[in-house]
Amino acid sequence: MGTEKTGQADSPITGGAALGGPTITGVRTVLIDVPLGQRTITDSQSSVDSVEFVQVMIETDAGITGYGFNWNYTKGMRAVQVMIDDCYGPAAVGQPALARQALMDAMHATTHFIGRVGVARVGLCAMNLALWDIQLKLEEQPLWRHLGPAKERVQAYNTDGGWLTWSTDELIADMQRIIDRGFDAVKMKLGRPDPRDDFERVRAVRRAIGDTIKLMVDVNTVWDLKTAMVWGRRLEAFDIEWLEEPLHPFDVRAHAALAQALDLPIAVGETIYTLQGFRDYVDQRAVDIMQADVTKLSGIEEWLDVAALGRAAGLSVIPHTNVQHNVHAQLAAATANTPMVECCYESLFDIWENPISVVDGYYTLPDAPGVGGKLTDRVLERYRIG
Ligand SMILES: [Mg+2]
Repeated sequence: MGTEKTGQADSPITGGAALGGPTITGVRTVLIDVPLGQRTITDSQSSVDSVEFVQVMIETDAGITGYGFNWNYTKGMRAVQVMIDDCYGPAAVGQPALARQALMDAMHATTHFIGRVGVARVGLCAMNLALWDIQLKLEEQPLWRHLGPAKERVQAYNTDGGWLTWSTDELIADMQRIIDRGFDAVKMKLGRPDPRDDFERVRAVRRAIGDTIKLMVDVNTVWDLKTAMVWGRRLEAFDIEWLEEPLHPFDVRAHAALAQALDLPIAVGETIYTLQGFRDYVDQRAVDIMQADVTKLSGIEEWLDVAALGRAAGLSVIPHTNVQHNVHAQLAAATANTPMVECCYESLFDIWENPISVVDGYYTLPDAPGVGGKLTDRVLERYRIG
């Protein structure tokens, strides 16, 4: 799939000549579906055995190709591919590759009427990452060095031991395995049909892992406000680091009511797609931990805007992360108010070219130039579906 053209297209972008740098000559996409190398993962709203990715490649007349991506743990990425092939690619070809913010506006203008959140937004992010990748390759810098690090290592917390359908014994055994590997922060899923089950599982896990390990819980949006009020209050007995996505993510008012009623910190962000969405949460004091995800926002600039919003409000940003750890670890390294990054789906760590890893509970930072968004050629060939 893709768009190719040569020569300068008509465009509202000005300043290309003064800016210099390469011109975009083509935009290509590949759709893949990669099986998880671990058993089916479940939370209160999803069951996952494979992950779909769109890999976008922005080609330039300098011979540099920028790689971006987006992903989903169910089907549907074909729709994102269409957004890129039909809307963003044609808007980008012929334009100066370094005019990133003007290009983002021009691309957004092609889908704003049907997609300010969701499918169109995540396609825009894939383009944004690929544009950053071009600049960083020109500079021969990894993202975190370009931004200027705030810290030399990034703590990881682990979600791979807490899935909803695991028995309590399996849950405890997996948590223990993770802790033995050097993690000192773990998350488990809530949202079973009877909240008493959730309560008992949290109690059992806290007893098993002791008091010094950070424990987070994630409802994945399925509680109503009353359930969250009652069971959130009871969970406070277990020294929980945060209660994640207790309610519908667009219901800022309900989160505000909950945040005011509970001492337990509230975390949201993996399904907030805009800076304004986060601003409303902050304004209404409805969030304590902002889980900004670059692959749900429109890209790196907007993620940094959200992080700055958090800093101004005295809040931590702890990015929601399944497969986008290559980018998030670099963003966190360059952001002072980002104490941790999630670690999950470790069976997919090696699908990336220049993969980063977690050692003793901390992410390594890459030396390779770019954003870290290129899947290996082997993965792109083997799992291609479109
Ligand atoms: Mg979550």
